[in-house]
Amino acid sequence: MSDTPRRLDPTTDASSAAIILGCEPSRVGPCARCRGLTIRYGGGIPRAMPVCPACQAESEASGTGSAVRSGR
Ligand SMILES: [Zn+2]
Repeated sequence: MSDTPRRLDPTTDASSAAIILGCEPSRVGPCARCRGLTIRYGGGIPRAMPVCPACQAESEASGTGSAVRSGR
């Protein structure tokens, strides 16, 4: 259970969120579901995630099978 990703509060500083997410601060943006911070923009590595890690974990846990992987 301890490996569940943290949800990043929207008030988190973008540079701090970027460190946690492992991306550039310019790529940080709000999750499509919870408005928490995720790697919202851009391409390359790591891949952009319109839905944050915490919401993806919820989707997988609830058995929907596939998290949102593409789109902007
Ligand atoms: Zn989310």
